[in-house]
Amino acid sequence: MLGYGLLEHTHCIPNQKAFEETSVTTHSLLLLPGDGIGPEVMAETKKLIGWFNENGSVRFETDEDLVGGIAYDTHGKPVSEATMEKALATDAVLLGAVGGPKWDNAGYDVRPEAGLLRLRKDMELFANLRPAICYPALADGSSLKKEVIEGLDILIIRELTGGVYFGEPKTIEDLGNGQQRAIDTQVYDTYEVERIARIAFDLARTRGNKVTSMEKRNVMKTGVFWNEIVTQIHEKEYADVELEHVLADAGGMQLVRWPKQFDVIVTDNLFGDMLSDIAAMLTGSLGMLPSASLGAPDPKTKRRKAMYEPVHGSAPDIAGQGIANPIAMIGSFGMALRYSFNMLKEADLVEKAIAATLDKGLRTPDIMADGMTRIGTSEMGDAIVAEVAALAAA
Ligand code: NAD
Repeated sequence: MLGYGLLEHTHCIPNQKAFEETSVTTHSLLLLPGDGIGPEVMAETKKLIGWFNENGSVRFETDEDLVGGIAYDTHGKPVSEATMEKALATDAVLLGAVGGPKWDNAGYDVRPEAGLLRLRKDMELFANLRPAICYPALADGSSLKKEVIEGLDILIIRELTGGVYFGEPKTIEDLGNGQQRAIDTQVYDTYEVERIARIAFDLARTRGNKVTSMEKRNVMKTGVFWNEIVTQIHEKEYADVELEHVLADAGGMQLVRWPKQFDVIVTDNLFGDMLSDIAAMLTGSLGMLPSASLGAPDPKTKRRKAMYEPVHGSAPDIAGQGIANPIAMIGSFGMALRYSFNMLKEADLVEKAIAATLDKGLRTPDIMADGMTRIGTSEMGDAIVAEVAALAAA
């Protein structure tokens, strides 16, 4: 096992056949395809999981359940208690997408997105990881100049459970003089900054060994605090990693000016929301962007709760047409290989297979360009599995 200390664990369940000879490492996956294009892109990911089960050295035991609008239609809530129990027990959750116009008038507490938020909250997924990788074949498709984004490979780590989105008080008060006052509270405790900083430094050690911490220390107390805690953790535990601090607004500007200067960016919930969307657009279509959300390691098993999902939504405008791009979902499974199962070689294989498929000129409509070959969701899934097989055999 490669020891970067972030997510090391194996979960051994001897199956009947293997028990007689040797035990096979088995990982459990809960698949929650959800709504709209969710099931379509999940179907392609299942092909790849099947390939690894037949050809890899570990087994994935999959269970499938409902989330979002389809869960509301079936159970009256966007995630049932039974599904929550499975999510808390599994090694990793793979989620497609939730939502759609059919549920626009569902109550606030039972809207499809509430299922997603419940999963994130109950699994205590405090770190959101979004890679921004520019595949060479797509460099011409960006709104930025080719030389600015070609070969880009950065990772944005956003604190996901604290900060101004959750801090109290959070109110709109009546001041009694014809005026109202709206209050949101930006609040962070030491442990919240420490744990997200450790994830950033741990991951930087597996990549370019550089962390850029972004906050607003010039105008916010939480910015001063964030800066101090990250600096302390760096000095005490990660002096071998390069650390720089950049003001979050300047960071946004640098992300579009010369994004390749960054390796790992760590930032709070609010700034992370915006900066990760900026980084997302560097690489083109929403259909290309995977993400991971991680929780704290269990003290005994060292296993982190984890959920992997594409950044995109349920795309009702193209659902059912067989034209959705499955790369974000397949890439999310690739992130599970890397961050939950420490299967770095296999994760690299998935990324290389995606790049090779794009190099051959195969494109779903969202990334279509002149001279390329237009294909559908299923053909894209098949092509990527074929490339995985070819690269593994090479
Ligand atoms: P969206 O991401 O679903 O779609 C935005 C645009 O991108 C659409 O034109 C869509 O066709 C396109 N697109 C998205 N994914 C694509 C893919 N894989 N391949 C090709 N094209 C793709 O965002 P939206 O339209 O604002 O929201 C639609 C629904 O999804 C809403 O109900 C929203 O609440 C929900 N939503 C869910 C999530 C989630 O499940 N994590 C995230 C965002 C939005």
